[in-house]
Amino acid sequence: MSAGDVILIPNRSDNYIYLVRCAQTGTTAVVDPGDAGPVIAELEKRHWDLDLILNTHHHNDHTGGNAGLQDRYKARLIGPDAESGKIEGLDDTVFEGDTVKIGLLLGEVIDVPGHTSGHIAFYFPDIQALFSGDSLFALGCGRLFEGTPEQMWHSLCKLRRLPDDTQIYCGHEYTQSNARFAVTIEPDNAPLQARAVAIDTLRAAGRPTIPSIMAAEKDTNPFLRADQAGIAAKLGMTHASPEAVFAEIRSRKDRF
Ligand code: ZN
Ligand code: FE
Repeated sequence: MSAGDVILIPNRSDNYIYLVRCAQTGTTAVVDPGDAGPVIAELEKRHWDLDLILNTHHHNDHTGGNAGLQDRYKARLIGPDAESGKIEGLDDTVFEGDTVKIGLLLGEVIDVPGHTSGHIAFYFPDIQALFSGDSLFALGCGRLFEGTPEQMWHSLCKLRRLPDDTQIYCGHEYTQSNARFAVTIEPDNAPLQARAVAIDTLRAAGRPTIPSIMAAEKDTNPFLRADQAGIAAKLGMTHASPEAVFAEIRSRKDRF
């Protein structure tokens, strides 16, 4: 039996909300509830209670359901310390190195600034799951609303050091459009080409592309590959730093 389960709840046009449940204790958390309604519906369907709400960053599509869920379930709300002024009703704040507990499941807090300046991710080794919010996406990364390219590159490098079999649960279903962009950066990357085809098949069947696996991200996500010589060469930036190459990829994606 696995130590716990992750349930995907599609929300709004392309968001994902996640339920995380400890198999031993039945303790249940929700990650980034943009709305309360779909979370309540899923919990009712399963006859589950809600104990904990985790937020990766302050944007409304990740926090809009906090209050409704706190009211209904008396669930404890935990979010990034650096965004405590921007998220209402926090019971606890956390930063790099802190641990959150969902029953027996221990989650490590990782600071990943870039999309927002206080963005955090939650990594649960027991279930090999990373909740990356809008930092690392399948085949992409979040827009830089508050941080710099340097910050985001260093944030992604931290995530890249997690085990290859880590399952990545990110905040949005952007994978198909990310794939279309990624092949413009690495047209000759065979694993990327194969992955783009698999993604099209999944989406044509109306299925999620999430979770993705870290090993595949390392091989195919251009934002994790800014230190690959081939990418720098393709962009005419052979002697540039990984930070500069990353910034160029990010700005091309913004215009894509
Ligand atoms: Zn966001
Ligand atoms: Fe978002």
